[in-house]
Amino acid sequence: MASFMTDLRLFNSLTRQLETFQPVHPGEARVYTCGPTVYNYPHIGNMRAYVFADVLGRTLSFKGYKLTHVINITDVGHLTDDADAGEDKLEKAAAENAQSIWQIARHYTEAYWADIKALNIREPAKWSIATDYVPQMIEFAKGIADQHCYELDSGLYFDVTTVADYGRLARAVTDEGEGRIQPVDGKRNAADFAIWRKTPPGETRQMEWDSPWGRGAPGWHLECSVMSGDLLGFPFDIHTGGIDHREIHHPNEIAQNQAHCHSDASGANIWMHNNFLVERSGKMSKSSGEFLRLQLLIDRGYHPLAYRMMCLQAHYRSELEFSWEGLGAALVRLKRMVMGIERLRLDALSVPRGQADMSLYQVDEAISDDLNTARALVIAESIANLGDYESDRLDAVYSIDQILGLRLDELTRTDLRIRPKAATIAEPEIEAILAQRKEARAAKDFTTSDRLRDELAALGVEVMDGDPLGWDWKLGA
Ligand code: AMP
Ligand code: ZN
Repeated sequence: MASFMTDLRLFNSLTRQLETFQPVHPGEARVYTCGPTVYNYPHIGNMRAYVFADVLGRTLSFKGYKLTHVINITDVGHLTDDADAGEDKLEKAAAENAQSIWQIARHYTEAYWADIKALNIREPAKWSIATDYVPQMIEFAKGIADQHCYELDSGLYFDVTTVADYGRLARAVTDEGEGRIQPVDGKRNAADFAIWRKTPPGETRQMEWDSPWGRGAPGWHLECSVMSGDLLGFPFDIHTGGIDHREIHHPNEIAQNQAHCHSDASGANIWMHNNFLVERSGKMSKSSGEFLRLQLLIDRGYHPLAYRMMCLQAHYRSELEFSWEGLGAALVRLKRMVMGIERLRLDALSVPRGQADMSLYQVDEAISDDLNTARALVIAESIANLGDYESDRLDAVYSIDQILGLRLDELTRTDLRIRPKAATIAEPEIEAILAQRKEARAAKDFTTSDRLRDELAALGVEVMDGDPLGWDWKLGA
């Protein structure tokens, strides 16, 4: 860690407090992130969870820790309800699409990886695929079955009263909280959950395995305990997920970890949760037809990194409201930075290099304060656009971008101008009409100039006279 760096303080959902990060293994950081269930495309809310985990990973790397990050891919076991009710999400999608479950999983895993790439989220050390770990899950279950589980006709269940302080992460195991969990006949406690789900007699599942408790499939929570423990070792440093996981999935993981480790400790030192991206009209819901996928944003002419910018503007623990106007503003902000940097690149040779850099110190302070990306952005901006700093400004911005991940070292304003799918006009046509309009304006023929502007508007092109960014036009959605 460079000498100027401040201690990293992170909000631990377990204690509901900011805590100083102290690695389990000196100089290392081991992080596990709950990954997607690959039964459908991720929506942009899901992707907020991975932008957050990426910023965390980048921060740890920036501060000099050797990072081992694991993200899992859930291709088995996740029911339509996070507790034990409903159908298996993947079995359902396979039946609806008349495809094999393996094809479904492959297709949506690749779609997810495409979004990861488009958002410039760094690849973790490992993508762990749940179905690769079923034998390990069975071994883990065997190890805790006698003392912590009981068998019903439908499967093997974990008795949450057998571990200390179940649900301390959720802090909400109230009657009301438990009311959301649908009853399964014979469960001892409402919060008990499936470790193994037996295939009902007379049925076959596309994905099923033999186990001491009959043929069937693992419960969803089991995979994360097994893969995080196997790949990172208990205890590891940080476990992340969306805030919904604080209520059921992570408390259940913790209970399993406690049983497995014969310890009251949770398995990870810090549990971190990003808040939700919300959208008022319900377009985030995957059952709403055209839902908010990253590709939809791109189809409407928004560069995917504008969405990353939108995420960085908010603190990860705050709810973030999505709107197209908000996304447009984030895109403009990104354009401004890119143009500032393009100018810096032009005069980079005339700037002295290697001076002590206040800005990095300030960014380190901001990001060490529970990942304050909003503040780090302002600092990057003031270097790129305002020239508030003396040192090599280009180097400074690139260093800060190691954390922000906006690809500021290579993004150009042309990259940011994405053609909306619905636009029918080609760029040379636009340029030709604009040239005519310029002539008309020079000749003070405002009737013609206004007519040409209206013509362009009808084609979805917005002309921006006097645009401070120097962009002549943009294609509207
Ligand atoms: P899933 O594929 O449903 O398991 O979700 C993947 C990740 O997205 C999990 O970490 C969820 O907690 C998170 N998540 C789900 N919905 C949202 C949302 N609207 N905003 C932010 N994160 C979300
Ligand atoms: Zn998980």
